[in-house]
Amino acid sequence: MPGRHFLHIPGPTNVPDRILNAMRAAMEDHRSPAFPKLTLPLFEGLKRLFRTKTGTPFIFPASGTGAWEAMLVNTLSAGDRVLSPRFGQFSHLWVDLAQRHGLDVVVQDEAWGTGASPERIHDALRADAGHAIKAVMVVQSETATGVASDIPAIRRAIDDAGHPALLFVDGVSSIASMDFRMDDWGVDGIITGSQKGLMLPAGLGICCVSPKALEAQRHARTNAPLRRTFFDFEDMQRSNKDGYFPYTPSLPLLHGLREALAMLEEEGLDNVIARHRFLAGGVRAAALEGWGLKLCARELKWYSDTVTAVMVPEGVNGADLIRRAFERYNLSLGAGLSQVAGKLFRIGHLGDLNELMCLGAITGAEMAMRDLGIAVRPGSGAAAAEEHYRQQGGADAVAKAAE
Ligand code: PLP
Repeated sequence: MPGRHFLHIPGPTNVPDRILNAMRAAMEDHRSPAFPKLTLPLFEGLKRLFRTKTGTPFIFPASGTGAWEAMLVNTLSAGDRVLSPRFGQFSHLWVDLAQRHGLDVVVQDEAWGTGASPERIHDALRADAGHAIKAVMVVQSETATGVASDIPAIRRAIDDAGHPALLFVDGVSSIASMDFRMDDWGVDGIITGSQKGLMLPAGLGICCVSPKALEAQRHARTNAPLRRTFFDFEDMQRSNKDGYFPYTPSLPLLHGLREALAMLEEEGLDNVIARHRFLAGGVRAAALEGWGLKLCARELKWYSDTVTAVMVPEGVNGADLIRRAFERYNLSLGAGLSQVAGKLFRIGHLGDLNELMCLGAITGAEMAMRDLGIAVRPGSGAAAAEEHYRQQGGADAVAKAAE
C-alpha cells in the first residue's frame, strides 16, 4: 500500500528516524576500552528517566517480560508470598509468571476497566501481621484496558499499613510517557521495555532497583533462591560498574537507547508527559464526545495517557473493525485481549507522536466503524479531537503548563 503505515497499537511504537539512524552503527568490540563511553552514560540517563538518585538500572537483551522475571527472581525466594492486583491481561501475565516461579501469589481481582485498589492493598497488608507478603506487584498502565493505577496512593497504603513489603511497578506502557518518580514514590523496582515510550524496537528489558530491593537480593540468595543465570543482577552489577555486560549486548539497541534518552531530555521529561496527556485527551474526546462510545476505563481517574480502549457497540466484533482498519486504511489498532476479546479496540498514543498522527488514527478508526455499519456521525471523532487540540493551544501551551 502506498503511503505510510499508521502504527497505533500501544507498542511497538513508531521509531523516529533519528533513532533508526543512530542504530545504523557498525558492530564494535563490546570489551574494548572505548565501549564504556557508550554504556556508562546510559545508566545515568536511565536514572534520570526513572527519577532516581539511589536506584540501580539494569539493561537486559530481553523484552518487558524478561524484565518482570529479572525483578522477581533476583529479589524473592521460592515460596515467598507476593500481593498482586489483577485487572487486565498484563497484570494477569505477571501473576502467571510469578506463580510459575513458585511464588505464593495473593491475587486481588479487580473489575477490568478499574485498577489497583489502594484500600484493598492496605487492608491485605494490615491483616498480614507476620509480614509474610514480601512484595506488592502493580501494573501502572494496564495496556489491555487503558487503565492507570495510582502508584503514590499505593505507596501510601503500604506505609499506612506499616508494612515492609517491596513495591514493584510494571511501567512497560507508562515509562517515558506518564509521570513516574521512583524515589519520591518509594518504588523498589520498576520495569519497562524498549518498544513503547522509549521509541525503540523491542529487545531491551530494563529494570531499576532500589537499595532496599538490592538488599533483598542478598537475602534471597541465602534463603531458597529462585533460579537465575541470564537475569542475575549480581553478574550484571559486576560488569556494569565498569561499563561492560556479562554477555554480548545488543549494540544497535544501546546506540538507539542513547539517542532515545537524548531526545527525551531535549524535549524535557515533563513536556513529554504533558504531551502524552494532551494527545490522550484528544483521543478520549473522539471516543466519548464524538462517537458517543464508552471506554473500557470506567472513570476519569482510571484513564491511561498512553492507550485508550474503546468499547464497540453490542453486536459488533472489535476484531472485524481492527481487520478492516488494517486492510483498507493501512492502520494498526490494538485488539481486545482475553476477557475483552472482540469487545473493544485500542488506540495506542505513545512515543513519537503528534496531534495529526492521532487524528489520522481517529479518522481511520471512524471510517472502519462506518464501513461496518456502526452509527457514528462522519467526522465526529476528528471534530471532537480537533476541538481539544485547538482549544488547548497546542504544544506551546503544553510546554508552558509543564514549566
Ligand atoms: N506489561 C505491560 C503493561 C505490557 O503492555 C506488556 C506488553 O505489551 C508487557 C508487560 C510485556 O512486555 P513484552 O511484550 O515486551 O514482553
